[in-house]
Amino acid sequence: MELNPAFATNSDKFARAAGDEDEHETQAKVTKPPATVVDKSGDVILTLGDVSLLVSSKVLSVASPVFRAMFGPHFQEGNMLSKSNPTAPAVIPLTDDEPLAMTILCQILHHQNEVSNEVFVAKNIPGLRNLATVSDKYNCVGAVSFATNTWIQALEPFEAQASQHDLFHLLEVAYILDHPVQFERVSKRILMNDVGGILERMIGWTTDDILPIKVYGELEKRRRNIYTELFKGLQDPIANLVGKNEYEPTKTLQDKQYGCLNHTWDKFNLHDALQISAYLRELKRVNLWPFDPQKQKLDSLIQAFNNFEHRDISRFLGFGIFPKFTNCQACILDTRSQLANLMEKIRKGGRGLCLDCIDKGRRGGDEVKCRVKHD
Ligand SMILES: [Zn+2]
Ligand SMILES: [Zn+2]
Repeated sequence: MELNPAFATNSDKFARAAGDEDEHETQAKVTKPPATVVDKSGDVILTLGDVSLLVSSKVLSVASPVFRAMFGPHFQEGNMLSKSNPTAPAVIPLTDDEPLAMTILCQILHHQNEVSNEVFVAKNIPGLRNLATVSDKYNCVGAVSFATNTWIQALEPFEAQASQHDLFHLLEVAYILDHPVQFERVSKRILMNDVGGILERMIGWTTDDILPIKVYGELEKRRRNIYTELFKGLQDPIANLVGKNEYEPTKTLQDKQYGCLNHTWDKFNLHDALQISAYLRELKRVNLWPFDPQKQKLDSLIQAFNNFEHRDISRFLGFGIFPKFTNCQACILDTRSQLANLMEKIRKGGRGLCLDCIDKGRRGGDEVKCRVKHD
């Protein structure tokens, strides 16, 4: 991977791993890009493919126990013996690490935040994820937390437009960096954005299993609960009317001639029929009917609920109802407020995951210890 030009420094700052190479090696070195100077008086050059970084082993050792072990007494001894020029920086290949992430990590640890800040403003979600991964591997998540928090905050405005794939990357970041607020916020967004099933989507995405499997399981469980609740909740406002077994016919000849409605509590009547029809037509108008969880995001469903109006089509069809009869279920029906209650339930059910509960398997009263509030 090419080193981001943002990190290239002036030529006078370039360091060379000179000293112990023979002529042949020195010639080969000419064609290689110079090391990026993270510390001018650094004693180690980390090489990652075409990228090489001149760094201080002391600085890295203070920040990371992994580097401390790497640069321990055995390293110093071996270094002195193996080189003809003991003052030249030792070259250490780090073949498994992502070059840009390691560059940023070293810059942060060497207090060169003004350089790494340049990438924070970009919508670079994979970049942040790689930095989180490499910080975790070198056990220095705490040492870079100010920088990673800044990056997380810089990305927050872009979360609304992020794909589900990128949102899962952000969730991985929150998990690695132990960031409960971001973890809750991003997992809620994943829930609200999802169409058709979280488990189906994760197949083929995760190659490094950063998130515990129960994160996916818990998200999918919540998604299904919400849709089950929705499916039932959408039927509730008219369930009583549809469920009536006996009919109440329009009785008098005069009522039939003048199209008067009849109103009864427990028998199915003309007003019930009109209300059912009005309700279904309004659901259709706001795209809630037919209800298909495979095609609709929770976000768009909530929007649809906001547009829902309680309509009484009796008037449009030529029936005047005044005053309302308190002994008629159709007269007292208020579908809008019933759906508003349902939406409130969805909002609650759609809250994000608690990182502490995921990590510690908390339930019941123990949740008061969690860093994010549970309600
Ligand atoms: Zn009525
Ligand atoms: Zn919790």
